[in-house]
Amino acid sequence: TATLGVLGGGQLGRMFVHAAQAMGYRCIVLDPDAISPAGAVAEKHIQADYLDHLGLAQLARDCDAITTEFENVPALALETLAGMRVVAPAAAAVAVCQDRAVEKAHFESAGVPCAPHAVITNDIELAAVDPALLPGILKTSRMGYDGKGQVRVKTAAELAQAWNDLKRVPCVLEQMLPLKAELSVLVARGADGQVVTYPVQQNLHRGGILAVTEVPAPDVPAEVATLAIASARQVAQALAYVGVLCIEFFWLDDGRLVVNEMAPRPHNSGHWTMNGASVSQFELQVRALAGLPLPEPRQHSATVMLNLLGDLWFTAEGGPTPPAWDRLLALPGTHLHLYGKAEARHGRKMGHLNITADTPEAAHAVALQAAALLGLPTDF
Ligand code: ATP
Ligand code: MG
Ligand code: MG
Repeated sequence: TATLGVLGGGQLGRMFVHAAQAMGYRCIVLDPDAISPAGAVAEKHIQADYLDHLGLAQLARDCDAITTEFENVPALALETLAGMRVVAPAAAAVAVCQDRAVEKAHFESAGVPCAPHAVITNDIELAAVDPALLPGILKTSRMGYDGKGQVRVKTAAELAQAWNDLKRVPCVLEQMLPLKAELSVLVARGADGQVVTYPVQQNLHRGGILAVTEVPAPDVPAEVATLAIASARQVAQALAYVGVLCIEFFWLDDGRLVVNEMAPRPHNSGHWTMNGASVSQFELQVRALAGLPLPEPRQHSATVMLNLLGDLWFTAEGGPTPPAWDRLLALPGTHLHLYGKAEARHGRKMGHLNITADTPEAAHAVALQAAALLGLPTDF
């Protein structure tokens, strides 16, 4: 049997491992933590830092091909591994996704518009910021996720203060845009250049964290969906990307579509594919990595995905204790996925619930019932 390696031991790695094992692969996970969601289910777990040469050498020795589940894995680790084994996605593509300034330049060079923005790395650039970008969001160029490393600013004075608060690391200031909806598109591209896509996903965020994904996207007209998919293909093609890539879009009040950011891996907004599509995003990642054909995904069920954050583990009485799942799972078309995380924390992704049905209306109605049972907002 062939062996696949994964850098990173989080939930995305865990679901990748499950998909790989179902297809007969052995998996080895490399993660700095002794215990991790993916390490717990893989055949082997290497506990090492991402730049530890012994750990990387061991991973390369024992694997036929290696991927990453973690977008902030040092690109150097991927580059080192690529000298020894098949690595997908490539270090260069991941490096583009790791830096918002570079990422935005890539979108523009691929001919896909993104939010008006300015790069801030020094006082001169700070002083030169076009006031038309305010109010805006100051984002650290590197390492941010789930809305971390972001400050909303209204005035030049607030901007200067926020940049100080962010320790004056390289940042991007983006104009605050009026969003009609947030969308994302998953693309999978093979080493041979074959590209397949999933339907457009409509995403609701709460507090900077994904809360709900609905597919088909309830509010999106066909021409916007077509443009989003064409733009996503263009971005993947221009990167010569291999593997699953997720591109996030803002659909604006004036009808324009701009790209927000991308993730070089399967994505939370694609978890619906585990129950609503003929092939999951994790199986496509396995196939792309193993050099196998990529089938065009077919959506067979309308699906709503609800994220299950650690907050649900804490009740008025205290916690952490998991919610009682029995009443939830009595609802038709509910599929529970838990990531096996040892400890619940506020804002931590503990699992997700996929709700499938024959029609979008039916999936939506059950999702509202599920949210109410969980005590989640029913604002979608
Ligand atoms: P992720 O966890 O998806 O990687 P992130 O921390 O990289 O998130 P972004 O996707 O850049 O952050 O922003 C998080 C959320 O903040 C967006 O999904 C959107 O709701 C809001 N947001 C970000 N930028 C803008 C903008 N320019 N205008 C309006 N809203 C924005
Ligand atoms: Mg991000
Ligand atoms: Mg995002």
